[in-house]
Amino acid sequence: MSVWDDLIGQEALVSRLATAVDEAAAVLAGTVLAGTGKAGAGMTHAWLFTGIPGSGRSTAARAFAAALQCPRMPPGCGDCLSCHQVRQGAHADIEVVRPAGLSYGSHEARKLVRQAATSPTGRRWRIVLFEEADRATEHAANALLKAIEEAPPRTVWLLCAPTPHDLMMTLRSRCRPATLRTPPAAAIADALVQRDGTDRELAIKAARASQGDIRRARQMTIDQEARNRRDEVLALPCLLTGVGPAVTAAATLMAAATADARATTEELDAIETADLRRALGENGEGRMPPGTAGALRELKERQRSRAIRIRRDSLHRALLDMASYYRDVLVLQFGSTTELVNPDRIAELLTAASSGTPEETLRRLDAIMECRNRIDANVTPLLAVEAMSLALRTL
Ligand SMILES: [Zn+2]
Repeated sequence: MSVWDDLIGQEALVSRLATAVDEAAAVLAGTVLAGTGKAGAGMTHAWLFTGIPGSGRSTAARAFAAALQCPRMPPGCGDCLSCHQVRQGAHADIEVVRPAGLSYGSHEARKLVRQAATSPTGRRWRIVLFEEADRATEHAANALLKAIEEAPPRTVWLLCAPTPHDLMMTLRSRCRPATLRTPPAAAIADALVQRDGTDRELAIKAARASQGDIRRARQMTIDQEARNRRDEVLALPCLLTGVGPAVTAAATLMAAATADARATTEELDAIETADLRRALGENGEGRMPPGTAGALRELKERQRSRAIRIRRDSLHRALLDMASYYRDVLVLQFGSTTELVNPDRIAELLTAASSGTPEETLRRLDAIMECRNRIDANVTPLLAVEAMSLALRTL
């Protein structure tokens, strides 16, 4: 199975990246100079992978990195030692950066820049794969900018972010865009059936509900609780009949998002903590050797910071689920034949569509987007969600 098979619904991008890999091989062979290939198609030392969360941008960057390091023809066989190492995150010449917290500071960035400047240990490329590069602070981004501008000939930077606008203009203008399209529901459903053996009907439902977020779709096929929480969120619009119910609905939405986040963080935290305790020499009775408390404290701190981020992401997702409801109402109000995200709620969607106007629905969608913006601007989430709930209620 080739490394490109990990991408879902991205045929055009795969073909562009494969062309770049071919040119990269020619650069290594000394037959072509980097950046002199077909405009926008060849190899270059800085790439920016963008796409909605869950569309597979870091998967695409990893597949590209694997193909650049693979010695076989066609590159990216998925089968050789190098491809296996990339898949396991253990390739000596690929540095994967995954910021745990809300931001990535200049101290870490400078360390990374020094690493990126060293020559590869193998005969190919030194690759830095920076997931969620949008979390780099301005100082960190400036440090990266300088490194990217003066990258050594065999260093390749792969940055990932939701949209190009999430990076400073100076930084994104140095990178070649690799844009992922939102994976179509049918492609996601096929992948769930073929790779995970998911029941087709469940796969289709989850794929549609995920709105292009592959991770979310997979989670919904295996986690009944996640499906229940989503149902709870989608039931809220019908309950928004006055001020009191709107405030209650806000609390329900927050609780669903928090439970969603907890399901993710608790599992991650437990695995990491157990790994670190073992690595630091925990004895059979669960006691730690002296001098290890600091490392455990540092891990706890990182986990706390990550939990805040995951809670915010979960809330964003719950808001998107809510938006999908009003989006469906709007589709019905316009009499469009576009596929609904929530066809299983058709009866209540039809009622909602006939009891309001498209203008009202658009105002409600705006209220949800405004709530997302407020949360990003650090307004207390509960306050932002309450304000939204009040704006959504039917008067
Ligand atoms: Zn390979």
